[in-house]
Amino acid sequence: MTTSLPDLPLDPSRILIGGDWLPTADTLPVTDPSTGQEIARIARGGAEEVDRAVTAAQAARDGTWGRMTAQERGRLLTRLGQLVLAHVDLLTQVEALDVGKPLKQARADALALARYCEFYGGAADKITGETIPYLDGYTVYTLREPHGVTGHIVPWNYPMQIIGRSVGAALAMGNACVLKPAEDACLTALLFAHLAQEAGLPPGALNVVPGLGAEAGAALSAHPGVQHLSFTGSVATGAAVQIAAGANVVPVTLELGGKSPQLVFADADLDAALPFLVNAGLQNAGQTCSASSRILVQRSVFDEVAGRMADAYRAKVIGPASEDPDIGPLINATQKTRVERFLNAAADLPLIAEATPPAGLTGHFVPARLYGPVPTRHALAQDEVFGPVQVMIPFEDEAEALRIANGTAYGLVASIWTRDGARQMRLAKALRSGQVFVNNYGAGGGVELPFGGVGKSGHGREKGFEALYGFSTLKTVAAHHG
Ligand code: NAD
Repeated sequence: MTTSLPDLPLDPSRILIGGDWLPTADTLPVTDPSTGQEIARIARGGAEEVDRAVTAAQAARDGTWGRMTAQERGRLLTRLGQLVLAHVDLLTQVEALDVGKPLKQARADALALARYCEFYGGAADKITGETIPYLDGYTVYTLREPHGVTGHIVPWNYPMQIIGRSVGAALAMGNACVLKPAEDACLTALLFAHLAQEAGLPPGALNVVPGLGAEAGAALSAHPGVQHLSFTGSVATGAAVQIAAGANVVPVTLELGGKSPQLVFADADLDAALPFLVNAGLQNAGQTCSASSRILVQRSVFDEVAGRMADAYRAKVIGPASEDPDIGPLINATQKTRVERFLNAAADLPLIAEATPPAGLTGHFVPARLYGPVPTRHALAQDEVFGPVQVMIPFEDEAEALRIANGTAYGLVASIWTRDGARQMRLAKALRSGQVFVNNYGAGGGVELPFGGVGKSGHGREKGFEALYGFSTLKTVAAHHG
């Protein structure tokens, strides 16, 4: 099967610096994960390009962009959201080809990007400081100010959503952004930047430098002209970014994935839970930071839940993104090898069910697998696989469920399925997790809901109003007037 990109309104081998689309000395291939075929080339930006982008961003802060009112920034972001909406079909097609995301899921990401622009457009002029009662003769108040130049290092699994939640919020607060998309997922980032220009974003307010992590990414993390860094990706790279930023005393937001559990009690509404138990693990072929990869089930209903999940697994269709299957390919050959290594190490575990890719596909496909019961210390129950793999773990009572749920290095998302209101409240407090869902999983991914982790899932919050606080700094003004 051959695939080709639709006509793009830009040359994807160029980078955006200070409003100009510039060539680089070298380029990198873009391959379609569904076929393994090259479909385009992107720029290979490095330290020099990052330096120029940071300079351009600083100039934007010092110029037109920095002088814009919050209301003007909000209007601009709202207009950008409308342009994203008008280009949802193009963004969907491009994302499906670039990252192998099934069409419906790619479309949901494009719509989420529009929603982020609308949300942060509307919020831009609603962030206020406060007045603080103080000593006689003083008036004290706080000002929320942008950091200045913000760096955004984005992964390949949800490029549009992560750009929306980090760049969208940073622009709303008046920062000037340097975006380093993942080398496997640059095309929608470039399209977004093109639309931002069309919406009227002044030159330099958003700069995009595609390139390798070890080159452009490392250069951005270590650049002394950057005043805040937002990173989403692996624990190892996140730690490296934090160390590099630390040398410049630059604050970092890290969103590093998880091993997120769903706790299913015997009194749960299993009909309501079932689709969430399965789909929260298999969405985007399991390449989701908040994927639910651990299903903890009270022993008395373990077999029933396993049986029903097995039926759902067997019904899953795996195939090329353009055919809009339930599960597409993994992003690249490296990730495929990584997931296969986990599957090989799981050979001793009981396999409850699987869905297998049809024969003859040339892309980076792996089977979707459900294992259980799995010992809590097994690598598959502890480590982030980032593939379509879930483990089931039985528990006796609430105390054991909590111990298992909190028993990994991660803490991003957790969900509780029970009709017992007191248990819902107890567990929501006791779970070590950035988000807790009661009788649902993900709450539809709302852009309004602050998101981020504890432990090795990272720190800092994006999404919602919380992101606007993260992408700004607080100044206290104490005026003595007697
Ligand atoms: P990664 O963390 O290496 O890449 C994420 C981003 O960081 C990309 O833009 C990359 O170019 C950049 N980067 C890489 N090295 C860098 C460096 N030294 N300095 C600065 N930036 C750098 O992730 P990966 O290698 O693409 O994937 C490996 C694993 O990471 C996955 O299997 C998964 O477990 C995890 N991951 C998690 C998420 C998430 O949403 N939490 C997303 C992608 C990958």
